[in-house]
Amino acid sequence: MYRKTRISVDTIQDLLIDLSFNCPYLGTKFIVFCKNEEHEMTHPFEFTTRKELKEFLLLNSSNCSECGAPLDVNNIRVNFYKKQEMLKAL
Ligand SMILES: [Zn+2]
Repeated sequence: MYRKTRISVDTIQDLLIDLSFNCPYLGTKFIVFCKNEEHEMTHPFEFTTRKELKEFLLLNSSNCSECGAPLDVNNIRVNFYKKQEMLKAL
């Protein structure tokens, strides 16, 4: 499940850092999809840090490493997730 937002990535990053600091069980993921014309063929790429995402985009010139379609850099999703391994340790 996800929601679209117009909040800038920088603002979200700040929010995530604050939240992650307050809640050690909260993880973040950055997801970018390619814009393959066949909708079922879009490839998702997942990163745990914004730095990894940036490096991937630079390395591949913002193109999909699977099919070569441009990556949808204007629609990067940020996911929050509970770190299950941390919860199990309790
Ligand atoms: Zn692709």
